[in-house]
Amino acid sequence: MKRYQLKIGGKSVDPASGDWFQTQNPFTGEAWAEIPRGTSADVDIAVNAAHDAFISGPWHEMTASQRGLLLHRLGDLIARDARKLAETEVRDNGKLIAEMQGQLNYLPQWFYYYGGLADKIHGATLPLDKKGYFCFTRHEPLGVVAAITPWNSPLMLLGWKVAPALAGGCTVVIKPSEFTSASTLELADLFDEAGFPPGVFNVVTGYGKDVGPALVEHPLVQKITFTGSDQTGRVINEQAARHLKHSSLELGGKSPNIVFESADLEQAVFGAISGIFAATGQTCIAGSRLLLQDSIYDEFVEKLLALAATARMGDPMDPDTQVGPVTTPPQYQKVLEYIDIAKQEGARLLLGGKPADRPECGSGGWFVEPTIFGDVDNSMRIAQEEVFGPVLSIIRFKDEADAVQIANDVRFGLAAAVWTSDMAQALRMTEKLRAGTVWVNTYRAVSFMAPFGGYKDSGLGRENGMDAIKEFLQTKSVWLNS
Ligand code: NAD
Repeated sequence: MKRYQLKIGGKSVDPASGDWFQTQNPFTGEAWAEIPRGTSADVDIAVNAAHDAFISGPWHEMTASQRGLLLHRLGDLIARDARKLAETEVRDNGKLIAEMQGQLNYLPQWFYYYGGLADKIHGATLPLDKKGYFCFTRHEPLGVVAAITPWNSPLMLLGWKVAPALAGGCTVVIKPSEFTSASTLELADLFDEAGFPPGVFNVVTGYGKDVGPALVEHPLVQKITFTGSDQTGRVINEQAARHLKHSSLELGGKSPNIVFESADLEQAVFGAISGIFAATGQTCIAGSRLLLQDSIYDEFVEKLLALAATARMGDPMDPDTQVGPVTTPPQYQKVLEYIDIAKQEGARLLLGGKPADRPECGSGGWFVEPTIFGDVDNSMRIAQEEVFGPVLSIIRFKDEADAVQIANDVRFGLAAAVWTSDMAQALRMTEKLRAGTVWVNTYRAVSFMAPFGGYKDSGLGRENGMDAIKEFLQTKSVWLNS
């Protein structure tokens, strides 16, 4: 079985604990690799290595253009190894190979974009109100960044954090999820090959409860960039506040996918299906609440069920598979528990609602049938809480005002979509929906250029786009007395 090592200070090293844990393939349930069980001792060494690289040595001396060039080189190496990295992610988190290949092919763009931005961030000369002084501003890197990522898209979300952090001149210690650490450890070797100096990018794997707090509370860490559940996000934000550290949080969602009667229904049906069942519903932006206007409710549900019933489940490595396994055993249990809760609450089960018992799914993996509940009331737990699995709740609405009220009546605000042929209505909706991303007649589009982040309990701060680099910078005012 493959045994990985930590990456600290440019070296592959064993964990201080001398201990490894196994990572499993969600399709078979079998262990396929050993991941180092990092602890606070490894965190301390890694943060010190990142701090040393930040305050002196080649990274510290580099110009912004030189940093940008390294990021470009790294992007090229990711493009070269995209297939291999995609296969590692499929083996570790069970996502479909086509989707992972797509993500890995796209990931280099984050390194090209922020590599290009590195030398375009500059301060200003101020038209001062005081005679005899000259004052200008500099944007300086914050220092050591702790990046903490979840299991659903390890490398894509790494790119969203690490590319702007390094472009800004910071150094990074990253902790991937204990369920999907392998791809981050493999990517670490490409940083060496691209020519990043030792200590600029470090990986400490391990359990959240061991490595997480040690990293967040380490005195030399200046900034925490976290993606994960809102429960963990709250804990991290409290720790960050106690230690006066910068933090940005990308958290969960319960996104409304709203279909008006004027919509192209065929297109909207595809949008509803991919909105919830892509990545087996395990995305923060899953369109887990489908809001249907009264007048089209029955017709739409009929079309939706017909399409959903054709979903091919099975081996995520098979390019023909459309719905793969749930990534982890605890998540599998959680999804089944929410299905029970929905039934008890009186939601009407229209499709699925049980573990998948299909020969193509094998016998060891964690498969749940694509599940659809109708007649859901927005006050039910199934409509209010993030399931993070292939479970769709359909909710009926009367008119635009009703749709807005239901869509916003949830504590999350990550994303929302509107399907309509009335562009005036679309524009009104984009204004009224309380979400960080709103799509019209599409679902799930993201780009390195488009800011991404949450309203309400879905997070603090933004990733992607020009401003994301500022999350890793601080401004200094310089005064000269003539
Ligand atoms: P999680 O909160 O359980 O874990 C996320 C990471 O935090 C893991 O690396 C974990 O080991 C670590 N962690 C756990 N306890 C910690 C602690 N006390 N201190 C520091 N780190 C700790 O989340 P998950 O189950 O891995 O991921 C699913 C969640 O992520 C969902 O809620 C989903 O919506 C969210 N998510 C959000 C986005 C976004 O961009 N907004 C993207 C993807 C996933």
